[in-house]
Amino acid sequence: MSDRVLRGTRLGSVSYESDRHTEFAPRLQAIYDCPDGHATTMPFAAEADVPARWECRVCGAPGLLRDGEQPEAKPTKPARTHWDMLLERRSVAELEEVLNERLTVLHDQQGRVKAAAKSAERDRKKSA
Ligand SMILES: [Zn+2]
Repeated sequence: MSDRVLRGTRLGSVSYESDRHTEFAPRLQAIYDCPDGHATTMPFAAEADVPARWECRVCGAPGLLRDGEQPEAKPTKPARTHWDMLLERRSVAELEEVLNERLTVLHDQQGRVKAAAKSAERDRKKSA
């Protein structure tokens, strides 16, 4: 029975190479401290560019490299508002013109509505 058992190892899980006589590339340990005080240690190749930030293994907050330079705050662009975008397309004078156009249209409509209401009122009084 036992000779029918297929023996094997999972592909890629086991290496039959030994570590003996193998020289590892030089490494360094980078330690990251998160705002909550957790320390995350990451090995890096000595010649690698060690990132200034690394996600904390415990809480996921961004940790800063211990003894590293503080990353410069990126100059943040002020958020572009709808008003800013509008001003990119039209000048204030043009906007004033558009506003007046729209107000005229609205006032005309309102005038027509009021006139219609008045004439309806007159018709009602006549018929009464
Ligand atoms: Zn943390």
